Amino acid sequence: MKTRKSITRAFCVELQQELSIVAARREYFSQEPPRARFNFLCSSEPCRAQGVKITGVRYDVKPQEHPTFVAAHFRANPNYEHHADCEWVDEADLPEDKPAPEETEAQTALRKVKRKLDDYIDVFDPALKERTRPASSPDKPEPSPEEKPTSATPSSTTSITKQPTESRTNNLERLVDSFRQAQATLSKEEFALLTLRIPGQGEVTLRSWFRHIKFAKLEDERRVLYGGGLVERYGTGFKFKFFDRLQGKQVTLYVSPAQMQAYRSSRYISELLSHADEVRFFTVFALGTLAASPSGKSVSVEIDDLRHLAIVLGPAKEATPNKDDTGSTGDAVPKL
Ligand SMILES: [Zn+2]
Repeated sequence: MKTRKSITRAFCVELQQELSIVAARREYFSQEPPRARFNFLCSSEPCRAQGVKITGVRYDVKPQEHPTFVAAHFRANPNYEHHADCEWVDEADLPEDKPAPEETEAQTALRKVKRKLDDYIDVFDPALKERTRPASSPDKPEPSPEEKPTSATPSSTTSITKQPTESRTNNLERLVDSFRQAQATLSKEEFALLTLRIPGQGEVTLRSWFRHIKFAKLEDERRVLYGGGLVERYGTGFKFKFFDRLQGKQVTLYVSPAQMQAYRSSRYISELLSHADEVRFFTVFALGTLAASPSGKSVSVEIDDLRHLAIVLGPAKEATPNKDDTGSTGDAVPKL
């Protein structure tokens, strides 16, 4: 059968585990060059048993600001039919524009908007269960049980009446990709419909859970702070300096060499930062809070773990300058 839902996870043959496309991208760029592309099979057991391939699109391209935003995503391979029990077949049989029997008008509108996105996240869990790796552990991807969808009624689900599943992750970069695609492709009204559930915090609008640094406040609760800026390296560590100031004070995010060394994806971060000379800026997304420095002269973004940091490359330097592409004040981009 053909799949109808957006495929958000697939089984990576080389890594022998199920991954989101964002996790696949991180693993791809964590390889030493020359890097090998991965082969993916459908995440559903019956499909995998039949060798049903899935195509990974753009996971071998670093996340970068681009006028024509194309998110990394999985796509069904037209040469393979999926099993009737496949998790990506169905939902589905609802006509696009008609409400499902128990759906309100608002739910129908939200469902239509979600379908425009390759990877819509319903639940983001900021809790991090494992600590960073011990220095000697092999460089294996982290297990990703939190990326599995949870069915509304798991015990009563049958293959005949599949319940809509919710997409859940604790991977900040995956949430950031979803946010960026929503921002780039949806209308303002559509974007405003998107919500996100945070365990322990309840439901928020996706828009409000992300805050551009120029609108952030010291007393804000923890959320995703983002903005453009430049990076200074300190050995393997770095300091990110945001272009936008808060009450005239510089805002920075510092990651020490020790933090980088303890982080299993530090190679991926270093790989992104290695493009500093080629891009006009980086955009940093950090799940954290703001703190005033002891001197009171600057403000720092505090994060509790590097897994709560995502970095996106800015446009290449030779690209035509575009005031709007930072979501920031264009004149704050320093000339280098
Ligand atoms: Zn399948």
